[in-house]
Amino acid sequence: MRYLSTRGQTPALGFSDAVATGLAPDGGLFLPESLPDFGGDLARFESLDYAELSCEFLRVFATDIPAGTLRSLIAASYTKFTDPAIAPLKPLGKNLYVLELFHGPTLAFKDFALQLLGNLYAHQCLVRRETINVLGATSGDTGAAAIHGLIGRPGTAIFILYPDGRVSPLQERQMACTGADNVFAIAIDGTFDDAQAALKELFGDQEFRTRHRLSAVNSINLARVIAQCVYYLYAWLWLPASERGNVEFVVPTGNFGNVLAGWMLQKMGVPIRGFRVATNQNDILYRLFRTGEYRSGEVHPSLAPSMDIQVASNFERFIYFAVGRDPARVREVMQTFKTTGAYTFANFNRDTFTASRCTDAEIPGIIQRVHREHGYVVDPHTACGFKELDPERVSVVLATASPAKFPDTIRAAIGLEATHPSLEALKTKPVVKHVLKADVAAIRAFIDRHRL
Ligand SMILES: *Cc1c(COP(=O)(O)O)cnc(C)c1O
Repeated sequence: MRYLSTRGQTPALGFSDAVATGLAPDGGLFLPESLPDFGGDLARFESLDYAELSCEFLRVFATDIPAGTLRSLIAASYTKFTDPAIAPLKPLGKNLYVLELFHGPTLAFKDFALQLLGNLYAHQCLVRRETINVLGATSGDTGAAAIHGLIGRPGTAIFILYPDGRVSPLQERQMACTGADNVFAIAIDGTFDDAQAALKELFGDQEFRTRHRLSAVNSINLARVIAQCVYYLYAWLWLPASERGNVEFVVPTGNFGNVLAGWMLQKMGVPIRGFRVATNQNDILYRLFRTGEYRSGEVHPSLAPSMDIQVASNFERFIYFAVGRDPARVREVMQTFKTTGAYTFANFNRDTFTASRCTDAEIPGIIQRVHREHGYVVDPHTACGFKELDPERVSVVLATASPAKFPDTIRAAIGLEATHPSLEALKTKPVVKHVLKADVAAIRAFIDRHRL
């Protein structure tokens, strides 16, 4: 299988190269040349456990990795999950399920993709006899999940920039209490935007980038989308056969990476009825699916911080399909959006998507209601999924984070102490963070000193 850029000006690459490249040189995102059809394989998938299903699915995409190697990379990627089902599907009521995606090492769904990505990077280091230095900026969950994907992996070092004092104390501990000597949590004296600007400049410096074999960790990597398809398939297979065709997956959404994976699976022949894009008060996608206009706004920090985005970086992959897989039209849309901050789609085809939006004023009330009606505690991101459910459908709400990551919001809403043993254990470990000025020269010098 080969991979093309949504902007059509990058030669097709194999899986491993597309994963290593991340963002295509023409600014686009990688997608499979053509989508496979799994419609005829579904019966065969029925009895597989999570890792087996992942193997069956991924081997169709990662055709340049030998089957036995891929199998062991995948097996290793799901050993740190604490629930034997990896992604348990729990019934909450009539026509209502929750898919728990928070049993990985950092207690959020990003572990599904980043545990695997870590193994893929480490494997490439081995094959190419090279080291890599992974660099990213985070406002919380992504950095922690990326770090836990690479902890202690030979041949790799990871540098994560975050705004000092502006990520939650627990998120900081997940990054800065690992005790691993290949992990560098860098607290920038500035905002997330400052960290991101520094990152952009470092990646823009070709000489620095090549010399250190820098690799980016961000939400648009092809491997993340492919890895995330698997839990939708797994959940679909867990549903009673009579309910499968009527299922709407309800997905708390920021950068559109998670819900895009589900939608692509549907396009690969799995009969899913549709998808609900559930945003917080940063509602660019909600507005798009309601009106056909994609217009960026300001970020309004919310109780569901991992969905606080201005533009949805994975949305370009959907645009590619929406404009009939025509890279010239993708370029035109992205160019217009970049210069004017908006794009209006004529006759916008929302396919099988619906959308809802949830403000901060509503989140505590939803946490209370779900607790009262179902005896179940949801984190503030997952709460956005419970805003409104379609009674005509079987709803599977994706629980993207453990409530224990957001104890203050849970306490304020329902008076309970949400805890998790892995977070409690972190509280006694020393914080090792490197505080740097929001200054490219200082960050560059730090990487020069500590890189592999
Ligand atoms: C990252 C994240 C999201 C948003 O996922 P996208 O792929 O950006 O849509 C939702 N919930 C949690 C807990 C997250 O960490």
